[in-house]
Amino acid sequence: MKEISCKLLVIGAGPGGYVCAIRAGQLGVDTVIVEARRPGGTCLNVGCVPSKALIHAADEFGKIARLAEGENRLGISVSKPGLDLARTVAWKDGIVSRLNHGVSGLLKKAGVKLVAGWARFRDGKTVEVETEMGLQVIRTEQVVIATGSDTVELPLLPFGGPVISSTNALTLTEVPRTLVVVGAGYIGLELGTAFAKLGAAVTIVEAQSRIMPQYDIELSRPVAKRLVELGVEVVTGASAKGLAPTGEALSVEGADGRALTLPADKILVTVGRKAVTEGWGLEAIDLDTNGGFLRIDDQCRTSMRGVYAIGDVTGEPMLAHRAIAQGEMVAEIVAGRKRAWDRVSVPAVCFTDPEIVSVGLSGEEAKAAGIEISSGLFPFKAIGRAMTLEREEGFVRIIARADNHLLLGIQGVGTGIAELSACFSLALEMGARLEDVAATIHAHPTQSEGFLEAGLAALGHPIHI
Ligand code: FAD
Ligand code: NAD
Repeated sequence: MKEISCKLLVIGAGPGGYVCAIRAGQLGVDTVIVEARRPGGTCLNVGCVPSKALIHAADEFGKIARLAEGENRLGISVSKPGLDLARTVAWKDGIVSRLNHGVSGLLKKAGVKLVAGWARFRDGKTVEVETEMGLQVIRTEQVVIATGSDTVELPLLPFGGPVISSTNALTLTEVPRTLVVVGAGYIGLELGTAFAKLGAAVTIVEAQSRIMPQYDIELSRPVAKRLVELGVEVVTGASAKGLAPTGEALSVEGADGRALTLPADKILVTVGRKAVTEGWGLEAIDLDTNGGFLRIDDQCRTSMRGVYAIGDVTGEPMLAHRAIAQGEMVAEIVAGRKRAWDRVSVPAVCFTDPEIVSVGLSGEEAKAAGIEISSGLFPFKAIGRAMTLEREEGFVRIIARADNHLLLGIQGVGTGIAELSACFSLALEMGARLEDVAATIHAHPTQSEGFLEAGLAALGHPIHI
């Protein structure tokens, strides 16, 4: 049995863990990171990156397929496109592999030791790792738990056969003829839309009364409209009851109690994710939990001294950039810097068609907090750039305090709006006021002019409407 010791041990090399380890290494902290699979975690291997690759491929294919079907406003005509999904998946795997190597290289450059294997706590300062070379014992002064999250399985629809998770969906080499997606949240809508564009007949089953219940209806409406245009059927207020006895179909109870049978070559279950809190010895260190997640304070400290937790294992919002920001902060704390979680907001971006962005408070949230607000909304249909992109749906909406015009939140829905999320977040973090947005020259013609005009609308004098 080998033994090593370090100042900081990070468990899990997802975006939270590997960023924490790299930053700690940069700051001269003697750091070891343990990863059971490939570096990059859920995000890089089976989440953010591969799903966005598939969405891009589906967008490209869908565009050509529409032209081939005779949609010819631009004067472009093409013949029917073909699709070799196995090649698409190989291309996606190539990107993932490049990034895996990139993460390993960055860890090495920062002087971090990467140990491959499954880690398990013996006590708060000792971890055992089952490696290919045998058991490795690591003694450490401080630990960061960054074990991430995993897919949730429905008891009536266990994974296997036609019932697949998002991880399986990203490795399919043939487009299913019929696909039923259970859950109309982030993953269900992103992947459901992609498979519809690739040619599958998609039905989405959602338990709540509408799609994307986490966003307000103004934001989800353009997405719902697009799903109709793509031929995606959406069944809301419905619950999946299991595989139909006839096979290759899903039994569903509709909102009115009616039994439905939905034909399905594949059933993609995307009903949320759960923290990975089992198998690594939580019982040995007995940390406080909160609704299935590790409980942390504003410095990501758990209930045990010297033990931190970051990322999905600590709960919502389960987003890669939150894990990254927590990882960077904890590395600095371990290196002796004074840091605490002081971010104004964690931006949320849903890569649906069109994309949705939400940063900070919605109007309802601000009002519920007792704040009097001024808000401005500007539609993309009045933006020249949106017309040139043939995508005029959606809007940008700004919520500000009525008294001093400090921005509280920015939401938007529209094609390519994901790229505006950084300017929305920057405005909030910098404490911008409506007048700052109005005084900033926004390049023309760009979608970002929607942000300028929403600011002007909140001040009562939009120009282009
Ligand atoms: P993870 O990325 O889950 O990494 C945890 C790592 O720890 C894993 O590699 C695991 O193998 C390892 N590990 C766990 N236990 C042990 C152990 N005991 N020993 C050794 N190693 C261990 N988020 C976004 O912000 N934007 C998106 O567009 C987006 N798209 C997504 C699409 C899909 C299909 C999915 C599933 C998720 C998506 N997410 C997205 C969410 C994002 O992937 C997660 O929020 C992010 O990966 C969380 O990072 P993490 O570091 O906390 O954990
Ligand atoms: P989600 O929470 O976004 O959506 C789950 C949906 O399933 C909800 O609308 C819920 O009402 C519905 N649901 C739950 N049980 C159901 C049932 N029995 N039958 C029918 N519907 C049911 O979860 P997700 O889509 O699995 O994504 C998990 C997490 O991954 C997200 O919360 C997010 O944090 C992260 N993610 C982020 C992005 C992004 O940032 N673009 C993309 C993908 C995933």
